[in-house]
Amino acid sequence: MVLVVRTQYCRLKFVTMRKRLFGEDGCGQRGASLRSRVGEQSTASEGGTGFQSLPFSELMKRDWADGKLSSRQVQEYCAGAAQQGSTSAEVRALAATGARGNCPQNTQRDIMRILGRPRGAPELYYAKLPLRNRNGVMEEKQHPFLLPHEYFAKLYNEQRDFFGQHVLGGAGELEACWDMLAEHEFVRSNPYIHGSDAYRKVAVPLGLHGDAGAMSKQNSALVLTWNSLAGQGSSKQTRCLITVIRKDQMLSDGSTLEAIWDVISWSLNALATGKYPSKGHADTQLEGRQREVAGQWLAEGRQGLTLQMRGDWQWFCQCFGFPQWNGAVNMCWICKAGNRQKPWTDFRQTAEWRGTERNHERYLADLAGSNPPRIFQIIGFRHEGVVIDVMHCVDLGVALHVVGNVFYEIVQSKVLGRTQAESVGALSRDLASWYKAHKVPSRFGALQLEHFKQSGKAPKFRGKAAVTRHIVPFVVSLCTKYNKGTQHDQFRLACATALASFYGALEACPRRMSMECKCELAKFGREICSFYAALSAHNAPKTWKLTPKFHLLLHLVEIHVPRWGNPRFFWCYADEDLIGQIVEVAGACHPSTMADIALYKHCLMRSLSLSS
Ligand SMILES: [Zn+2]
Repeated sequence: MVLVVRTQYCRLKFVTMRKRLFGEDGCGQRGASLRSRVGEQSTASEGGTGFQSLPFSELMKRDWADGKLSSRQVQEYCAGAAQQGSTSAEVRALAATGARGNCPQNTQRDIMRILGRPRGAPELYYAKLPLRNRNGVMEEKQHPFLLPHEYFAKLYNEQRDFFGQHVLGGAGELEACWDMLAEHEFVRSNPYIHGSDAYRKVAVPLGLHGDAGAMSKQNSALVLTWNSLAGQGSSKQTRCLITVIRKDQMLSDGSTLEAIWDVISWSLNALATGKYPSKGHADTQLEGRQREVAGQWLAEGRQGLTLQMRGDWQWFCQCFGFPQWNGAVNMCWICKAGNRQKPWTDFRQTAEWRGTERNHERYLADLAGSNPPRIFQIIGFRHEGVVIDVMHCVDLGVALHVVGNVFYEIVQSKVLGRTQAESVGALSRDLASWYKAHKVPSRFGALQLEHFKQSGKAPKFRGKAAVTRHIVPFVVSLCTKYNKGTQHDQFRLACATALASFYGALEACPRRMSMECKCELAKFGREICSFYAALSAHNAPKTWKLTPKFHLLLHLVEIHVPRWGNPRFFWCYADEDLIGQIVEVAGACHPSTMADIALYKHCLMRSLSLSS
């Protein structure tokens, strides 16, 4: 309630100022109103010199929102600008925050009051969550959320063009998306779809993403977002924040996360009906504005259906209680493969785990009576919706091992130099010249041995996801150049070529892949695994190390590509990008108000980037 109360307070205290700045409703036509009014002032006082003060305050807001400027700096700079004669009402208001710098602890709160609710963003909603306090004891505290159904409504009602492009996906995209998804029974069985074609024009398929990002060496924050599966664009355009929470606040018994799902599933279930809910998230009576709008359309009949969850293996274990990768009996959430029984290291068509792949009903049966996680309170969201992502599985899994092993073998073979140091230096120079000759967007710097072989460990490249993906063609050129014709060299080349072809197919194919493309991609996936497994079997134990991500790659190409289309359209790059932005802001906030400020600043940054 804190920020809602603050905002209401702001409406009383700053009602005159906000009417002057933002127009009558405080948000509608804000940009135009502000521009025209400041323009009028400038024209009157500065002899028509234009909008000089406006960009300054916009820059202040932008740099404050993304954590580059502290609240104190915004106040100081605006005070300086006012002193030099700025006539901008907003600059003068910002200069007056924190009692003109005399009460700096109030500056941040005052800035938020002045700026008000960013356009296209909902008010913060507060829900009581069981949290771990500083002494490690559970206490219930209010935590802020940007409710997906309210976000959806605000985007539709206040950013209609943006909604059309980045939520509906532009002309024809929504129906094309449903054409692909509705081929599958798990989508057709969704109660909001079943038995009618009307959904194709009004329902938006949604995905969720969860992952933690490091705010500091000591602490990280879990960031939860939603997005339209039809929408395309940058992370800021396509990803909508739901909440941020410090990981040290989350109870280890999972009760904090379960309470979070109670709030999110209530909101997403309202979004699925297309209407504002008539009860609160804990079945409580609604109050104030929420009561006024109960039962009304959110976006003139448009609705959002949650079908997908993305993230890394660790998040899936936390969110769904799925098995860990080293689970002896069952290490895979998709099938019954284990480390001993039905071994996941068997990539053949005859592998014992084949035929044990789970659908939602099999998943529930395997729970043997224990309750499924409360995320499954989201109506129509099923086990089939948990997807494997190329960035985590291939770029930061399979590809790191392929690249690392090839680099290490080339260096060890001494074809590039007499000593190891000479070979690494020559390899680094070769890579630099290859980068020069090819237009590669993500590059690795000077290569050293520890970047692909660390003492006592199997070779593994230490590049970031995009860098690793883009280095694969160079690895193919190495495997081709140094192919002596042995079975080992032939397998190595075949493995690297299959990996490069896999990436090539992702780039070349549209979202909805033809049957031919799906078969090709599945073939490349199987070839990567089979050749790598053969190299693993015939080499020293600490080389060509097989990891469970190779097993997931098979599920990706055989199950998830036919289900969701080209994995380039559901990989986690945009999600991770947004998490990076959020935790950077969050890391600069005071821990006690981190979630409120991070959510507010995210909304402000988004509204600024949308209007620019
Ligand atoms: Zn499996």
